[in-house]
Amino acid sequence: MERQLIGSSHALRTSFLVALLACMTCLFAGGAPARAEVAAKKLFGKVARPADLASRSIGSYARGCLAGARPLPVTGQNWQVMRLSRNRNWGHPALIAYLERLANDVAASGDWPGLLVGDLAQPRGGPMLTGHNSHQIGLDADVWLTPMPNRVLTEQEREDISAVSMLRSGKMEVDPSVFTLAHAKLLARAASYPEVARIFINPAIKRALCDIQWSDRSFLRKIRPWGGHHYHFHVRLDCPPGSQGCKDQDPPPPGDGCGAELDAWFRPPPANAPKRKPRPELTLASLPRECRTVLEVGGGVSVSAAVQSSMGSPSEVIIDGVPMPRRRPAR
Ligand SMILES: [Zn+2]
Repeated sequence: MERQLIGSSHALRTSFLVALLACMTCLFAGGAPARAEVAAKKLFGKVARPADLASRSIGSYARGCLAGARPLPVTGQNWQVMRLSRNRNWGHPALIAYLERLANDVAASGDWPGLLVGDLAQPRGGPMLTGHNSHQIGLDADVWLTPMPNRVLTEQEREDISAVSMLRSGKMEVDPSVFTLAHAKLLARAASYPEVARIFINPAIKRALCDIQWSDRSFLRKIRPWGGHHYHFHVRLDCPPGSQGCKDQDPPPPGDGCGAELDAWFRPPPANAPKRKPRPELTLASLPRECRTVLEVGGGVSVSAAVQSSMGSPSEVIIDGVPMPRRRPAR
């Protein structure tokens, strides 16, 4: 018995040394083990359910994840969620509360019949397989500039109906037969809540808002010009209290943003303008460390399994610089 034990521990030591040598050889040969560079969107895009943890937005809007997400119910009295097949009606409870309040307030005001809501975040946030650089921490939401119809849309209609552009075809100006004072009031109200950090909207729509004689123009500071965004607007909330590790953006510059900064959007870019570099693919290692727990908790995605399946048959898997055993012990 004792000999057997000594024998087996000897065998174990030997195999450990062989493994160590093999690893060192491969390092010295310049062949560092393959890194776990699975795109984070492939991991976060797979999980259908939220992480059962305390609600928390982790990281920054375009580099983070979401614990304890809540769903926006797909049909409320004053809102309907579109494109249900995407499963992106998840957010931090602060975002869900904001959308419900906005929907109810606009309906009560009589200016707008209710909201058609586009993408919020995935059940555990994170990067998405399609569209959006941001929307990763459950504090961003897209709201259509098309009013809610006075009936409940079918699931199929929510897939098929297209939003309507507010712009004249091919021009950087709003089409006044489409963009009305009701749209402007909707945007003003959406920006008016203290928890709103920014609203992104097409520069032509921002200009149309600037041209209106508002009694109080302070909301315009939060309305930020951005490309696209002429079928919908994008609301971004500040980090909610208690979301440790959530990174706010700097506040918008002071003023209503209707002057030179807005004008710059309407000038053609200089001929020698540097080309925008493509954004590097986000990997799990480039997100906050807690996002791995968010991904894996309660039967989410097994990161090591996903890494292996994307690498064929790896000899070693490394995540965040930490080697992971190929077969993980049962927990
Ligand atoms: Zn958006």
